[in-house]
Amino acid sequence: MKTHKTNAPSCDCLPLFKWVSPAIHDGEPVLIMSINSKLTPEEKRLIKIARGKAYRKNNPEKKAASAKAWRDKNKEKIREHYKEWAASNPGVQTQRSRNFRKNNSEKVKAYKTQWRNKNRDKLAQYRKTWDAKHPGKSVAKALEWAKNNPEKRASIMIAVKGRIRAAKKSAPVGELKAIKEWAKQWKSLTVVSCHWCKDAFTPNKCQADHVMPIAKGGAHCLTNLVIACQSCNHRKSDKHPDAWLKEINDTRRDKGPAVELEILPYYKD
Ligand SMILES: [Zn+2]
Repeated sequence: MKTHKTNAPSCDCLPLFKWVSPAIHDGEPVLIMSINSKLTPEEKRLIKIARGKAYRKNNPEKKAASAKAWRDKNKEKIREHYKEWAASNPGVQTQRSRNFRKNNSEKVKAYKTQWRNKNRDKLAQYRKTWDAKHPGKSVAKALEWAKNNPEKRASIMIAVKGRIRAAKKSAPVGELKAIKEWAKQWKSLTVVSCHWCKDAFTPNKCQADHVMPIAKGGAHCLTNLVIACQSCNHRKSDKHPDAWLKEINDTRRDKGPAVELEILPYYKD
């Protein structure tokens, strides 16, 4: 280990020299080894600790590996230690966890998703047990949430129902999160326009319509979705977009510009 003069204040090794006589480190860097014999046992002990620290700092992978090995070997010991510590420091752990969650919300969210995906069966069993113990409570809770979050509920229904239908027809499915965002956005507007008849409606009178119907292999994805009023959506049903466009342009009363469709990836035979 190389060392430096005591008057080099930025040096990491500085604490080492507190116990070294001035003659030793007055001059060029010296090896600690060479001065060990002149140190008291306490100084030797402190230097050993400092060396260990320096070694761990310079070999982070080795340090991590050995720390992990130790933890794996001493799980019970660690658990006991934390238990004791938590008992003698009430509330500290709770506050720390709270702070961590607050400062790492993205990390926590990702971890929770990962956990839920990994433990689906466990979670389903837990819910079943909970429902049996609290009959009717979860349904009431869900209804209450739906009542307070109509746009969110509608957007989830659009995304999830479409996915179920697509799965039945083996049709492709796009990113559900994007569909939810899209639906949430227009469901929270005051007025929306039907993609087909161009009339204005309140969002609750409109539905998400798959331009190329799922029944005809259309994808449940953002580029295949438009806002349609109930009447148009009902009339269109599972018609091919070409047939539907002809029908709507032939039967429109307002004589406005013809309804056209952009050529998007979904729109092909
Ligand atoms: Zn319409």
